[in-house]
Amino acid sequence: METKYIFVTGGVVSSLGKGIISSSLARLLLSRGYRVTIQKFDPYINIDPGTLNPYEHGECYVTADGHEADLDLGHYERFTDIQTSRANNVTTGRIYRTVIDKERRGDYLGKTVQIIPHITDEIKRNVRLLGDTGKFDFIITEIGGTVGDIESTPFLEAMRQLKWELGRNALSIHLTYVPYLKAAKELKTKPTQHSVKQLQAIGIQPDILILRTEKDIPVSMRHKVAQFCNVAPDAVIQSLDAPTIYEVPRLMHEQNLDGLVLRLTDTKCIGQPDHARWNDFLHRLYTATEEVTIGLVGKYVELQDAYKSISEALMQAATYCDRKLKLVYIHSEKLTEENVAEKLAETDGVVIAPGFGQRGIEGKFVALKWCREHDIPTFGICLGMQCMVIEYARNVLGLQGANSTEMDPDTPYKVIDLMEEQKNISNLGGTMRLGAYDCRLKPGSIPALAYGSELIRERHRHRFEFNDEYRTRFEQAGLECVGENPETGLVEVVQVSALTWYVGTQYHPEYQSTVLYPNPLFQSFVKAAIAFSQRKSESAL
Ligand code: GLN
Repeated sequence: METKYIFVTGGVVSSLGKGIISSSLARLLLSRGYRVTIQKFDPYINIDPGTLNPYEHGECYVTADGHEADLDLGHYERFTDIQTSRANNVTTGRIYRTVIDKERRGDYLGKTVQIIPHITDEIKRNVRLLGDTGKFDFIITEIGGTVGDIESTPFLEAMRQLKWELGRNALSIHLTYVPYLKAAKELKTKPTQHSVKQLQAIGIQPDILILRTEKDIPVSMRHKVAQFCNVAPDAVIQSLDAPTIYEVPRLMHEQNLDGLVLRLTDTKCIGQPDHARWNDFLHRLYTATEEVTIGLVGKYVELQDAYKSISEALMQAATYCDRKLKLVYIHSEKLTEENVAEKLAETDGVVIAPGFGQRGIEGKFVALKWCREHDIPTFGICLGMQCMVIEYARNVLGLQGANSTEMDPDTPYKVIDLMEEQKNISNLGGTMRLGAYDCRLKPGSIPALAYGSELIRERHRHRFEFNDEYRTRFEQAGLECVGENPETGLVEVVQVSALTWYVGTQYHPEYQSTVLYPNPLFQSFVKAAIAFSQRKSESAL
């Protein structure tokens, strides 16, 4: 079949969940048997979000091909299990950089380079890039920002042109907000009408409207919206607040969003969606009553989006263990020898978060020492793994002042040091060790048992590494290197085998954990935490 292009835009306010709607639609089309992918266009000037502070934009997600991407790509993968790539996330910055590079090369043959057609053509080329591979039946393109933003204008103009060129092979879904005014006890559709008018003024007629709402929108009101906005009455769909984002595919299917997309794009129906495994996940999520409490020690705890993939991976793991996840965010800057016992008292397992820089690092060492001495299941991820190594060096190997050269370039014991290939890099953007690499696991180790395999592949995002010069000393003292890169020998996983579950990974297993394929190491960790809580309650009896 010809590739169909679905555009998802948003209006009225931001944060309506365009990413969740796009992901849900992708899930539905996939489970009907179509080949689907999703891409996101972000209207900011940064080349990618890799250099953005997590406070600005939440977590930076990393794709298998080593692209630092918007966190929405994490949603795409968690919903669909499809690996995204550099082509799935494009920013204004990248579009402009390509156009400017072309201009410098003289590719425009002396023409004046302008937003229309040069920027819009480059956007269109990027939209079609995935379609041109012939690998997909549907390309869902999410346009970041809100209709009316100055930044989004070139993307919307490109979308208008593409809709015109592609005819029935293109479809526009517009997501808006219907507020409920408590004082008047009324839902208000006027902002939606205005938002659609704004789209129409640009020359885009939406085909489907999705109305985000906290209260059920009566059918008569949806019909009124349809009439005002030139949309078929059954193409006005509501998106009611759901108990979990993973309920949204079901809610959309109940209102026939997937059927509608097939009808409006003249696509032959090849099958009904099969939701069995998805429903099983939701059933477990809703019926779990017992809790497992995990403490997440990090410095960005005020903004929970900063650890989005980790919290989702933990939730998925807990759900498959039939437990409700209680995730306690513990601010590493506020953790001290004096309060650690109290702060970690209720946790059944502790995750030491990834991160950069000195701030909050000492609190991570305090947490690690406590967990190690009390045999609490502990999972160090990236910087968290590096902190495990440093804490062990200081307190078990007796290497006073041991550190990572990231925190202290003059440390007497560089147990974590800059990777050789990173030493001459001065640009910060996109220059870390990024993306998926193979890792060979030691037979019988915790990760080897968890993955059920000795050769795995996980994603990375770091500059510093375990310093191999210290390997023998660590291993003799009980901290084993149980995973390494088969080509370079870089240490990827450490484990203290004398403890029940004390594991650190240089890679980020959270990026590859999805609803249907939860990450095995997170599952192993959560199982250990459950066993620990059972031991705690037995000994309290
Ligand atoms: N700052 C550390 C490094 O660059 C760890 C990075 C991370 O946790 N993602 O190696």
